Amino acid sequence: MPSHKSCGAQANPKKHREVALSVPATGDEEWQALRAPIESGWLTQGPRVAEFEKGFSARHGVAHAIATTSGTTALHLALAALGIGPGDEVIVPAFTWVATANVVLYTGATPIFVDVRSDTYNLDIDAVAQLVTKRTRAVIAVHLFGLCADIDALKRILPDNVSIIEDAACAAGSAYKGKAPGGLGTLGCFSFHPRKSITTGEGGMLTTNDPVLAERAAALRSHGATLSDEARRHGPAPHRMPDINMLGFNYRMSDLQAAVGVVQLTKLDEFIDERNHWAKWYHDKLADLRWLKLPHVPENSRHAWQAFVTIVDETISPLPRNAIMEMLQKRGIGTRPGTHAVTDLGYYRDTHGIQAGEYPVASYLDQCSMAIPLHNRMSDADYQHVAQALHDL
Ligand SMILES: *Cc1c(COP(=O)(O)O)cnc(C)c1O
Repeated sequence: MPSHKSCGAQANPKKHREVALSVPATGDEEWQALRAPIESGWLTQGPRVAEFEKGFSARHGVAHAIATTSGTTALHLALAALGIGPGDEVIVPAFTWVATANVVLYTGATPIFVDVRSDTYNLDIDAVAQLVTKRTRAVIAVHLFGLCADIDALKRILPDNVSIIEDAACAAGSAYKGKAPGGLGTLGCFSFHPRKSITTGEGGMLTTNDPVLAERAAALRSHGATLSDEARRHGPAPHRMPDINMLGFNYRMSDLQAAVGVVQLTKLDEFIDERNHWAKWYHDKLADLRWLKLPHVPENSRHAWQAFVTIVDETISPLPRNAIMEMLQKRGIGTRPGTHAVTDLGYYRDTHGIQAGEYPVASYLDQCSMAIPLHNRMSDADYQHVAQALHDL
């Protein structure tokens, strides 16, 4: 195990220990990697982006990878590449980061929410089957907190014309039946926000095995620009402007971000191994706390542990979840609800006429889930401190 130091406790051992919920693991190698693009002057999408895309697609066993500015823009690009728009329906889990639903609205299509399961926090596939209509174009299967959704079961219930988009924002480094996410469905979308397994500050990646979708997505990433056949035949001619036949965006990752990404990618497996080690440790140390339900890992899954999300069973817990989070904060321990029920957010309640209690599991998890610290900058003593504080409650 690499021994990382916990900043607060290290700087001043007398001060009480601070264990943040999540801290990105970047350092000197990432710093050094920025040098080449800065000195060359090639700052936007260029050789480093190409290198990052190549390494990422190889690691995830998928033919094409297209780097973007964020996980959100990768998701938007996926829907745009599929040509999804007004009148179309896209099925989205009710318990996920709001971006998963927002991107559907960006295209003018309608998000159709589906409740999740309380054991895996991932979409309830039997419930998905009830929601498929003639208008359904895609399902966004979120691999929440780094655990892959049951894609095979989803494929069994979906008609062939419905695409599966993996929201793998949290899932780089995970595996489903031995296979990496990104190529399990039609398109995959990753995030490199500092709270995810590897980071580029902000950033994302769209993956697919479909060459036509890959070409469309790559064009849409850069204003929909394509070289005309003539320009292509005559090779790169800098004085010639590309033709534009589609409404595109500027979702290009910079070479500065990709330079960091290339280094981070080399550490991905080490990061995930370390996270799995400590997740198992938590399972051992916290098993006796009956009021704290620990996250379940189905067989055949390698969890990426983007977050270690527990459930506080308020019927038997010493205090309600929010009071527990406050007590832990007083001891320097950062926690957070796992994520939110999108269907309980003001904007979605107001604009989608959602009734209270329509998505009971999502609402329950919104109120009772609690992520505890697990990341690649924690020391043994930090983990001991968290386990001790939970027992002291
Ligand atoms: C983080 C996240 C996103 C968005 O990724 P960004 O890079 O922050 O835009 C989307 N979906 C899920 C499930 C996420 O956790």
